[in-house]
Amino acid sequence: MIRFIVLIISWMTNMKITIFKAGKGDSLLVEWNNNKMLVDSGTPSTINKKKNHNFPSTECLDFCIFTHIDYDHIGGFLKIISKSEVNPFKKEMVIYGNCFQNISIDNDEFVGFKHGVLLQDELIRLGLDSNRMISGNFFELNGALLTVLSPERQHLDLLLEKWDGHIKSNESFKIENEYVSVNDKEFYVELVNESLTPMLDLENDIINVTSIAFLFEHERKRVMFLADSHPKIVYDNVKKLLDCRGEKFLDVDLIKLSHHGSRYNTSNELLSVLKCNRFIISTDGSEPYNHPHHQTLSMLIASAIDQGFEDLYLYFNYERASDFIILNEDNLNIKIYKIVCVEVIL
Ligand SMILES: [Zn+2]
Repeated sequence: MIRFIVLIISWMTNMKITIFKAGKGDSLLVEWNNNKMLVDSGTPSTINKKKNHNFPSTECLDFCIFTHIDYDHIGGFLKIISKSEVNPFKKEMVIYGNCFQNISIDNDEFVGFKHGVLLQDELIRLGLDSNRMISGNFFELNGALLTVLSPERQHLDLLLEKWDGHIKSNESFKIENEYVSVNDKEFYVELVNESLTPMLDLENDIINVTSIAFLFEHERKRVMFLADSHPKIVYDNVKKLLDCRGEKFLDVDLIKLSHHGSRYNTSNELLSVLKCNRFIISTDGSEPYNHPHHQTLSMLIASAIDQGFEDLYLYFNYERASDFIILNEDNLNIKIYKIVCVEVIL
């Protein structure tokens, strides 16, 4: 009987997203049918079984995406491959990520940010290739469709230039600490349409701007993974996709919010073309950023109310990040659920 119920549940389950504890970074596992895709690998300690008992073994991964070269997104992956004498993955596993090798055009000079260089070196040593992802690309992944919404080609070119500058400046390599502290947050949600997203100078944030963001669709389920992407770039590409499909809004079941809930990476403009009331916020809430920003939470709440949702679901991988108080929650026409969890099943 139990076996029968398990079978029924797995038959009904279309997709499962596991959110690992990754410090200030990201690491998620997407499962559909019998496929497993790792999206980022957090800090090096993310792969420790003590921290994430359910982190997958290397042999069972089918796909691996590293969204950008920030240490708290590729640290775990780097730790795995730098410790390996031979390719630790199964032969068929496909890696996606924008390395120096696959974004350079006519430049064969060896340049790169420290972590990007390390990653590149280790991939070459183990004979592994990574496949480039640029906005507008589509990939069919064993029955699922992945549509790339960021980065833009011109920003990858800029990344190459900055990469070059960085290596010449001989900046030393710093491992970010994982010290955790959080300030209590109390705020009022204001139901206004004014933008709470200050304009970012894209050039000065080029590593995040070149994040791979994508829409992942399997059967009737849609999930967006926004890495640390910039909202204007994602908005422009969602608009193109909607024009192409002849739709006004993109109905999405779940969104991994960009940049750990930073106010600089979510905008009213982007939310206005997405119909969604379930968001993953991956962060330990630690200093100095104290993510998620209350302005981001305000934008999510106001947008969900505006779209007529009665409930809003916010999924966290650390209790501390969910530790905020909405002072006018009782007066808002929506029920807000803060859920600290390890997985979301769609
Ligand atoms: Zn990040």
